[in-house]
Amino acid sequence: MHAAGTEQDRVNCSFYLKIGACRHGDRCSRKHIKPNFSQTVLLPNVYNNPAHTPEGAALSKEELQADFDRFYEDFFIELCKYGNVQEMHVCDNVGDHLEGNVYVRYEWEAEAGKAVDMLNNRWYGMRPLHAELSPVSDFREACCRQNELGECKREGFCNFMHLCHPTKSLVSSVHASQRISRRSKLSNGGGDGPEAAELGWTPGAARGRGGGGRDDGGWGPDRDRRY
Ligand SMILES: [Zn+2]
Ligand SMILES: [Zn+2]
Repeated sequence: MHAAGTEQDRVNCSFYLKIGACRHGDRCSRKHIKPNFSQTVLLPNVYNNPAHTPEGAALSKEELQADFDRFYEDFFIELCKYGNVQEMHVCDNVGDHLEGNVYVRYEWEAEAGKAVDMLNNRWYGMRPLHAELSPVSDFREACCRQNELGECKREGFCNFMHLCHPTKSLVSSVHASQRISRRSKLSNGGGDGPEAAELGWTPGAARGRGGGGRDDGGWGPDRDRRY
């Protein structure tokens, strides 16, 4: 290691290393070296936060929270199908490179690798998902400290993560249900390794059905408010 991601590092982009995305994208003058192995998967631009749309102005704080909680639960449950989810975060930023980004960190690199392969064949909200392994490992480093103190002057255009916060009880309940379902898989002899975990669906079938997976719950177009 030679001071990767610090000011002294003239080669690697510190934003890409820390946050997994930088506002210059492919035109960045510094390198964005995609990892071959990582526990973290990035799905850019997934959550259409109604708070940032004109229609959202009519929604109350509670309605906005309920919308995000539904998304969080829906996505978390789907991501559990590929492995043991340690944490999942969704950006509240509005800059193109961070808007609606979902980050998920798995227990094992093999689980993250499988999630990337499978999610690249999936659609959400009528749009194809893009998934990639991300260098982000420490979300405390990736998040904007000023925002956590309520003091970030750049607001949604900040280049560090500003997170959408799910209701606390929801987070403990999705983690608990993940534990229960993994335990019952074990006792059914399903195995617990990354290779043995079962998939709840096949991407090809889900995509082809009804011209876009219309009966696929949140993963179909029904819950997308923008269309
Ligand atoms: Zn960059
Ligand atoms: Zn900020």
